[in-house]
Amino acid sequence: MTEPNSDSKEVRTARYKWTQPQCEICFRRDNPEKEPVRLKSPESERCVTCGLWNQDGIYIRIDPAEAPYPSLLKDPTPTGEMKEDF
Ligand SMILES: [Zn+2]
Repeated sequence: MTEPNSDSKEVRTARYKWTQPQCEICFRRDNPEKEPVRLKSPESERCVTCGLWNQDGIYIRIDPAEAPYPSLLKDPTPTGEMKEDF
C-alpha cells in the first residue's frame, strides 16, 4: 500500500495550469509542422520543456505533472474554464 502524499499528481496539477510557456526551439522540435500561436506582447517566461528563459510568447497545452519545468501561470490564454481556485 502506498499512501497518497502532498506531492501526488492530483495536487500538482491543481496548482499548475495546463497552459505553459514554451520556447520556439522546443516548439519547432516538438511540432515541426505547426505554426506557433504567439502573444502580441510576450513577457519573459521559462520554457516548460528546457527551462530556458525566453520571450517567444508561445504557449502549449501540457500536463504539468509530466512537464520538467512547469510554471504557475495567471492563465494568459483563457479557455473558458469556470474553475478558479486562487
Ligand atoms: Zn525550450
